[in-house]
Amino acid sequence: MAYHLGIVSGKGGVGKTSITASIACLLAEEGLPVIAVDTDVDAPNLAILFQAKNNQVQEFHVKTTEKAAFIPEKCVHCKLCIDDAFCHFDALKWDEDNLIPKIDSIVCEGCGACKIFCPESAFEVEPVNSGTINHLKSIYNFDVITGETILGAQTSGKLVTELRKYADEVAKNESKDIMIIDGPPGIGCPVIAMLTGLDYVIVIIEPTTAALHDADRVISVINNFNIPFGIIINKSDMYLEGNKRIKEYLNKNKIELLGEIPLDSEWPYAIAKGIPIIKDHPNGISAQNLKKISKKINVIIKEKEK
Ligand code: SF4
Ligand code: SF4
Repeated sequence: MAYHLGIVSGKGGVGKTSITASIACLLAEEGLPVIAVDTDVDAPNLAILFQAKNNQVQEFHVKTTEKAAFIPEKCVHCKLCIDDAFCHFDALKWDEDNLIPKIDSIVCEGCGACKIFCPESAFEVEPVNSGTINHLKSIYNFDVITGETILGAQTSGKLVTELRKYADEVAKNESKDIMIIDGPPGIGCPVIAMLTGLDYVIVIIEPTTAALHDADRVISVINNFNIPFGIIINKSDMYLEGNKRIKEYLNKNKIELLGEIPLDSEWPYAIAKGIPIIKDHPNGISAQNLKKISKKINVIIKEKEK
């Protein structure tokens, strides 16, 4: 089975995906059989950094959401569904021209109340397309698997689970032993689905009060799963007092610091171009620090393989 390395942040916007992209490239350069997986299904960007977008291997739809469907031939136009307010989510409107209900499928939560209350059984609740899994090839010679929810789908956690299953299948079939998994922000259902079964987690923090607060929340979840983890402080010299607070927090909780990446003026250009910093500016201070971190991660992976 592949080694599953996850990268999370708690708070969005701290540089998680950019760091994930560079670490995946560095581990691949070190000769590890890498496969990259983007589980940030509500805002997937990892494939863009690998310039994998136009080189698609496979795309398929996943049905993890249920929505109401109207069966017009059963409707007797009694209007009870509107007058008695069957839908607490305001997803049912009345079509005055055709005297039938209209379902707003973006708002519909698939609760099934309309199906239960309609005396003519003119509603069904059915699985609908809720996202895609895209299997791509990066220009850096490894596979990238991403998930992407569609508008109105509420089940991104289930999509992450399907994505993880698909990625495991690909890793097994293609003998890819190292899976680098970019996680969603927050601590909700998609993060839980992403953390399940990981061997090690990297938590990205920037030296701001909000980032430390959110990282602390995601660390609680990681501890619940009993997964070993370490920290990278990104933009480490952005706010020295914040950096000091993070170090105090790490010392107090005996958490490993994998490394720090200072604010580097080359980052915004690399991000704007959509290129991992390690490729765009390989001799810069960020790339140097990322290389040191990557070597530590390589050691951690090898420890597990012993
Ligand atoms: S869908 Fe059902 S409740 Fe609504 S108008 Fe038709 S028959 Fe009446
Ligand atoms: S399934 Fe629930 S949310 Fe959707 S239209 Fe019916 S009552 Fe409203």
